[in-house]
Amino acid sequence: MAAIQKAACEACGRASTTRCAGCIEGLDHYGQPSPTYYCNKTCQKAHWTEHKADCKLANTRKVLYRGGELLQKAFYTFRDVAFDLKITSVTKQGEALIVHDQCIDMSQGPLFRFPDRMVADEVDKKSILTLNACNDAPAYLHELSKKVFQGVSGQIQQIKEVRLLVDEKKCRSVKLYRNRKLDDSDYFHEVIKVALSDSAAYALDLAGAQYGQLKSVIPFEDYARDYVTVVCSEFDHGWHANDFRELLMGKHDLPAGYDVRIPLIAKEVTQALNYAVQDWEEENETVSHMLDQKQPVFASKLDNFLGRLRDDIRAYVHHFESNGSKFSILSASDGDAGKPSYGDAIKTKETAKRASPSLGSGTSSMQEELRRARFFDPVTEPPKQLTEKELRKNFAGAPKGVQEFVAKFAAGGGKVHQF
Ligand SMILES: [Zn+2]
Ligand SMILES: [Zn+2]
Repeated sequence: MAAIQKAACEACGRASTTRCAGCIEGLDHYGQPSPTYYCNKTCQKAHWTEHKADCKLANTRKVLYRGGELLQKAFYTFRDVAFDLKITSVTKQGEALIVHDQCIDMSQGPLFRFPDRMVADEVDKKSILTLNACNDAPAYLHELSKKVFQGVSGQIQQIKEVRLLVDEKKCRSVKLYRNRKLDDSDYFHEVIKVALSDSAAYALDLAGAQYGQLKSVIPFEDYARDYVTVVCSEFDHGWHANDFRELLMGKHDLPAGYDVRIPLIAKEVTQALNYAVQDWEEENETVSHMLDQKQPVFASKLDNFLGRLRDDIRAYVHHFESNGSKFSILSASDGDAGKPSYGDAIKTKETAKRASPSLGSGTSSMQEELRRARFFDPVTEPPKQLTEKELRKNFAGAPKGVQEFVAKFAAGGGKVHQF
């Protein structure tokens, strides 16, 4: 027989078994249940002025912890269905996971089946799904993350995207060998930092599994203490999505040999994901409403939601592959006369301190540009075909292999268009 939960009444201190209905599933700072007990309605009423703010916050933390779980699971789903590494072997050396992958030429990929038979368990699988995918999470899931925070936006003080270095000594390591050469670069790790109205901050670590950090939400001070060497920079919410969009427009320097098809397909899959979310919301309820449902209802709706994302993204990937892998490509915006250049940019060391463009406090022209590019908005107009000349111009500074690929694409009459 289950023991009856008993605690002191918040108002008078007598033993009580009745909980405040307003925050019955509310959570504390660490994501643990934090019900508030009263012996009767009179005590609850007497204490309401004092409890009101806490009641609201406990519910906000519930939405935050659930929202982090939803975003992390959505990211695993995204990576699992649209996986972009060709893994040839996975082995273990003590605690370390050794992953070999093969550089691929343009005749293969860019997507591959995740090698389920090579991994021992879910933890190893998550480590590989998130490997070097830190900046992908806030970029690809930006629209979904906005929906997650919508219902509690009044309780949120600030949302930032934080770039940091993970203390590898404190982590379980995943070593990646590319064509038998150890990839020993230092990579930045990116998390979303949410501060609530009481100023308490939380790290949403969607790609932490590669470091053995599996929790989706952790109080930020604990996260910084237990996993981080240095916090490098803070960007506004949406910075990575914008950075990704700029990359697609040819505004970033990319390393030689960089497979430009990967961001192109990621853009398409992101769009498929956003449509799936939109459709699910139309047929069910808003994401923010789901996050506020009673626990068993929330759990089953979340399964249903993730299943829908999986099915729709998989259908897109299948369609993409069976139609000869055709990409759509963003064009540079009208006012942008500068020649695009390629060099280092994503997933590499930050070599120069770039000024961080921000969406929130930034220029309105950038927001205008975003709107015009239509990348993160639903597509309402038919896509405009890019001419071969426009296409070549976009990728003028790209490495030779990429240029050849783009040329082949355009020449083959591939459905190359802009949104
Ligand atoms: Zn009482
Ligand atoms: Zn309450």
